[in-house]
Amino acid sequence: MTCADNRLLTAAEALPPRLRAAITPEERAYIAAIEGRGGLPFAATPYFASLAEPDQADPIRRQFFPDPREELPDPFALEDPLGEARYLAAPRLVHQYRDRALLLAGGRCAGYCRHCFRRVWVGVPRPFVTDAELDPIIAYLAAHREIREVLVSGGDPLTASDGVLERLFRRLREAAVPGGGVPISLRVCTRVPVTDPRRLTGAAIGLFSRYKPLRMAVHINHPRELAPEARRALAACVAAGIPVLVQTVLLQGVNDDAAILADLFRECRGLGLTPYYLFQLDLAPGTAHFRTALKRGLSLHRELRNLLGADCPVYAVDLPGGGGKIRLDENSIAGEGEEPEGPVYYLKGPDGSLWAYPRR
Ligand code: SF4
Repeated sequence: MTCADNRLLTAAEALPPRLRAAITPEERAYIAAIEGRGGLPFAATPYFASLAEPDQADPIRRQFFPDPREELPDPFALEDPLGEARYLAAPRLVHQYRDRALLLAGGRCAGYCRHCFRRVWVGVPRPFVTDAELDPIIAYLAAHREIREVLVSGGDPLTASDGVLERLFRRLREAAVPGGGVPISLRVCTRVPVTDPRRLTGAAIGLFSRYKPLRMAVHINHPRELAPEARRALAACVAAGIPVLVQTVLLQGVNDDAAILADLFRECRGLGLTPYYLFQLDLAPGTAHFRTALKRGLSLHRELRNLLGADCPVYAVDLPGGGGKIRLDENSIAGEGEEPEGPVYYLKGPDGSLWAYPRR
C-alpha cells in the first residue's frame, strides 16, 4: 500500500539525511518490498522522524522503521490478536465489555508503529466512518443503554479534521442520550500527541472540551517521546480539564527496562497525565521481535511498583483471540504446557477459563 497522507514521510529517500545515511541494505530492500506488496505502511511524521537517532537500536527509530525480522515466522501470530471480530455488534463497533464499546472510526495514523496490534486493520486503505456507516452504530448504542463509554479508535481518530470529529462526537452524544440524562463518555484513543503534537491546536482542544465527559488515552512508550512540543500539547489538554490516560506497550529493545519505564511514568505524572496501562505485547503478525517474555514483564513490573508506588500503571494483557483484558501479576499464570505453536503459559481469563500465551 502507498500511504495517502502526503504529510508523512513514506520513503527511505525522504528521511532526514543522517537517518537516510544509516539505512542498511537489508532495511532498504525490506522497505522496497513493503512498498511493492502492501501491508503495514512505512510512514512517520517528519516531526517524529526528527526525534530518532540513526543507530538501529534507537528506541524511536525502532518503533517506525521497518525491520526485516517482521518476516520471521511466528507460529503464535494472529491476524486479529484481540479477537475483536467475535464481538462486532455492527460494522466498526466492537462490544466486548458490558459498559463500553469500541468504535473503529478510521484506518489512518500519523505514522505507523511497527508493533501495531491492529496492523491488519490499518494496513489497508480505509476511509473515516461515514454518516451511513454510523446509522446502525447509533441505533445499537441507543438500544444498549448499558454502554456508558465509547472508545473512539482506529487507526488514529486525530488524523480526521476537527469538523469530521465534531460530527462524529455530536452523533455519538445525541444517540446515547435522547432527551437528556447522563451523557455517554467519550475516550479518544490516539498517539498523535507524541507523533504529531501540532495537531492539538487550540481549536482541537476546544472541541474536546465541548464534548466532556471526554478523556484521551494516549499511547506513549518512551520518555524521549515526551519532547518539548509533545509536552506542550499534553499540558494544554490537561490545563483544559481533559483527563489524559497513558497506555504503554512493553517492547523489547525499546522500553524493557525498569529505569526507562519509571522515567516515563514519572514524567507523565509531572505533566498531570495518569499512567494507566502497561501492556504485554499482543500477538500481531510480524511483531515477535518486540515481545518481552512474560516472566520478565512480571519482574519488571515488580521493580516498577517498588519505584513508583501508586503511580505505577496496571500491567495487563488482552488474552489472545478474544479472552478479554486481564491484570497480570504473580497469580495470573495458572500453569504451563505445550501447544502445537510452542511452549505456553496458561493465563486465567475473567471467567476462570484458561488462555495460552507464549512463554517467550
Ligand atoms: S498509532 Fe495505534 S493504530 Fe496506529 S499504527 Fe500505531 S499502534 Fe497502530
